[in-house]
Amino acid sequence: MPKVKSTCCYCGVGCGVVIETDDGRITAIAGDADHPANFGRLCSKGATLHLTAGTAGRALYPELRRSRSEPRRRVEWDQALDHLAARVARVILEHGPDAVGFYISGQLLTEDYYVFNKLVKGLIGTNNIDTNSRLCMSSAVAGYKATLGADSVPTCYADIEHAHCLFIAGSNTAYAHPVLFRRIEEARRANPAVKMIVVDPRRTDTAASADLHLPILPGTDVALFNGMLHVMVWEGRLDRAFIEAHTTGFDALKEAVQEYTPKTVAGLCGVPAEDIVQAARWFADSPATLSLYCQGLNQSSHGTDKNAALINLHLATGQIGRPGAGPFSLTGQPNAMGGREVGGMANLLSGHRDLANPAHRAEVARLWGVAEVPATPGKTAVEMFEAARAGEIKVLWIACTNPAQSMPDQALVRAALETAELVVVQEAYRDTETAAYADVLLPAATWGEKEGTVTNSERRISRVRAAVPPPGEARPDWVIAVDFARRLEWRLRFGNRGEHFSTLFPYRAPEEVFNEHRETTRGRDLDITGLSYALLDALGPQQWPFPAGAARGAERLYADGVFPTADGRARFVATRYRTPAESPDARYPFRLNTGRLRDQWHGMSRTGRVARLFSHEEEPLLAMNPEDMARRGLRDGDLARVASRRGAIVVRVKASEEQRPGQVFLPMHWGSRFMAGHGTNALTVSVFDPTSKQPELKHAAVRVEKAALP
Ligand code: SF4
Repeated sequence: MPKVKSTCCYCGVGCGVVIETDDGRITAIAGDADHPANFGRLCSKGATLHLTAGTAGRALYPELRRSRSEPRRRVEWDQALDHLAARVARVILEHGPDAVGFYISGQLLTEDYYVFNKLVKGLIGTNNIDTNSRLCMSSAVAGYKATLGADSVPTCYADIEHAHCLFIAGSNTAYAHPVLFRRIEEARRANPAVKMIVVDPRRTDTAASADLHLPILPGTDVALFNGMLHVMVWEGRLDRAFIEAHTTGFDALKEAVQEYTPKTVAGLCGVPAEDIVQAARWFADSPATLSLYCQGLNQSSHGTDKNAALINLHLATGQIGRPGAGPFSLTGQPNAMGGREVGGMANLLSGHRDLANPAHRAEVARLWGVAEVPATPGKTAVEMFEAARAGEIKVLWIACTNPAQSMPDQALVRAALETAELVVVQEAYRDTETAAYADVLLPAATWGEKEGTVTNSERRISRVRAAVPPPGEARPDWVIAVDFARRLEWRLRFGNRGEHFSTLFPYRAPEEVFNEHRETTRGRDLDITGLSYALLDALGPQQWPFPAGAARGAERLYADGVFPTADGRARFVATRYRTPAESPDARYPFRLNTGRLRDQWHGMSRTGRVARLFSHEEEPLLAMNPEDMARRGLRDGDLARVASRRGAIVVRVKASEEQRPGQVFLPMHWGSRFMAGHGTNALTVSVFDPTSKQPELKHAAVRVEKAALP
């Protein structure tokens, strides 16, 4: 059978896969033994990818409705794209470019992302382009930039084998990054002296296997990290030489953490003071400490502080730039990293440039061949839907993501989708919650059908390859964006349908897009001018930076202690503990935490089609401490109504000792396609971190009551 090497389309581990086909159909999947992310391993989701191939639920041809009172009808591609170019051009002429917003996805390939970003910032002239990576990694980005000076993950997967202390915070790695967790387990088996500390309010499978589990109260991470630093200062466990030679701002931080005594922090976090002291000692004294962290730090109204407070610990102890040492943010999505590289967010520009920097805007305008990149900051994810609900954004173009399931505060999101004059949904599936709102549905190719690249958590760029053609009339996302951009460019320049010739979007293949993107990285921290499709095909996946002339990419960064800041020094950031946006009270006494299950992915538009992936958890269950259940007269399997200030849903309850009293947990995957109400995100809050603009999806105050049978 023909075999094609590609990359798994689910999580940020970025496992290599080998796709088998027969007669133009994907028939089997295997782990790629040569891929350095997984060496042949796959988790339950990756191992069933072939079962998601096919036409079930797929959008197969463009659909269009000219008014909300009529159903969408099948149209030709030319009709759909001409219609869109005319309508978007009219909105731009009548209301200005900021009346248009694009909400895209960390599941798009780097080439897709690049074209969308250039279309919006270079052609339309607005910075209203953001992505569901805003819900995922933007606090990690802001944390790296505040402390280390650039959005560059300094570590790599091989550091797991070198580490003597693994500090896992806000990550159920066993479920969310399963292949990586297997690597952790093997490393611990090979060296039983390795200590593993897990910080998580829940006793997850990851926490259960730790040497020390710190079940802190939700949202108290900054207090814990400051408390650990207090212990390190008090007990003289700092790396003074590193602090002096390679950092700034330590004195202010030292003063700021004075009040975070183990006793005070124990009270704030709800964990024993001696465990905080123990964690600080293991972290500081280990020959190499590796921190692994994810949404527990990022999805918070002070996620940037949480990230910075953890990185402070690495800088204070010199635990960075050596094998096995450093902060390692795990990316949730397969290409959240690639999206950051091309600047596909409202505040970023190509090649890790910043929109707020006039010199960076001028550089990108020159590279793109446009007069300017607008200076007005774009709307980030939540802001974009708020602006659409207020009628300021009139066109919402949504690609490869499902905000009517995944965004917090579904009442807000759905009001925005109803208010917008034109909703375009560019999607592989036609039955998502968001597709129901589409005025124009554009069928997109998906995994196994498209070519390009993705970057995983360790800065490793892998090829994604097509094994079969897209079904029906579906097209690759970058092709759809280019075909629309050419039409729009003509409309804006000449006011008619024209010939669709474009000097801005001349691409005929994804490799040409990659090559242009590559040029924008020249001289930057993520320089990939030495990479090409041919080299990736010959050598396999490579880490960046990979400048011209390099023989290989950089395994880890900052070995020389020089950081990408103006003075070459990393910066300590003094952070203070703040409570989450919404505190429990008499009406809403429980803290709701949300997160992933082992066998499902995001809104289940793909995994929801594989029966065997429901054998782990068949339906969304509210995990609740048995003491809390008894007080409310609830028994295992009872229906409960869970309500927040924004909405309510009914789910079954599951007794769980993983939960501390006063806290409940719901999986994030189920939306209105699978249950009454708007799913878990009917309950969550849209309040976001002031720097990263990442919303606090992991903390909301809720009430739980026994529900009557319908
Ligand atoms: Fe795919 Fe992530 Fe599983 Fe690897 S660990 S197979 S990338 S879902």
